[in-house]
Amino acid sequence: MTQLQVHMFSALSDNYCFLVRDPETGKTGVVDTPEVAAIENALNETGWQLDYILNTHHHFDHAGGNLEIKEKTGCTVVGPKGEAARIPGIDLELQDGDTFELGHQVARIFDVPGHTSGHIAYWFEDSATAFVGDTLFALGCGRLFEGTPAQMWTSLQKLIALPDETTVYCAHEYTQANAKFALTVEPQNQDLVQRAAQIDDMRAKNIPTVPTTIGLEKATNPFLRPMSSDLRDTLGMTGAPDVDVFAETRLRKDNF
Ligand code: ZN
Ligand code: FE
Repeated sequence: MTQLQVHMFSALSDNYCFLVRDPETGKTGVVDTPEVAAIENALNETGWQLDYILNTHHHFDHAGGNLEIKEKTGCTVVGPKGEAARIPGIDLELQDGDTFELGHQVARIFDVPGHTSGHIAYWFEDSATAFVGDTLFALGCGRLFEGTPAQMWTSLQKLIALPDETTVYCAHEYTQANAKFALTVEPQNQDLVQRAAQIDDMRAKNIPTVPTTIGLEKATNPFLRPMSSDLRDTLGMTGAPDVDVFAETRLRKDNF
């Protein structure tokens, strides 16, 4: 089995966008459409021809370029069934449990509501690679615009059930700000302390902190660690259910 090819590039002020390609068939997709010019540049640079847009959710910095890209390339627009009415140009609607075939590369689809009500994630199991949009970030998670903390916690649990070595492509470079917050709620986590220093170093050199991995996030991301006694001590929530600790962590980040 050949590996999925991924070409990551920046778009807008802090978005990441991804060309994905099956090397056997040449089938190519772009995960979200934050910025048409950046996508065209990436296609020119790689020489790849676009077959699909793979949307994670409806926000403008994810689906705003759909119609123009579709018109220019004739590609098929694939996206979340739960947001179909808000995904410009959608042709193929996906939901939890579905699979999507990019040539010979198969993505399993997860519904991950919380940031938006129909947000989906794409997991290319054989390549150990996941595209999670604005659901999970390096050291963070998406804001709850259209969902409850309980929904988001359920969504994040689907992602942390993936193998630790899974490479996770999130859609924004938010990591340094996320690290500052994470240190305030889990100050004794030595893995986090170390990672935060690495992140400062990387950002000073303008190196992307994306992708990350499930294993690294499980060890350092406070939104995935409601069971942490350090986090619980900070929040004063020693005996609370995980979902309540998650909700309080998210609330504190909103006000950070
Ligand atoms: Zn978003
Ligand atoms: Fe976004």
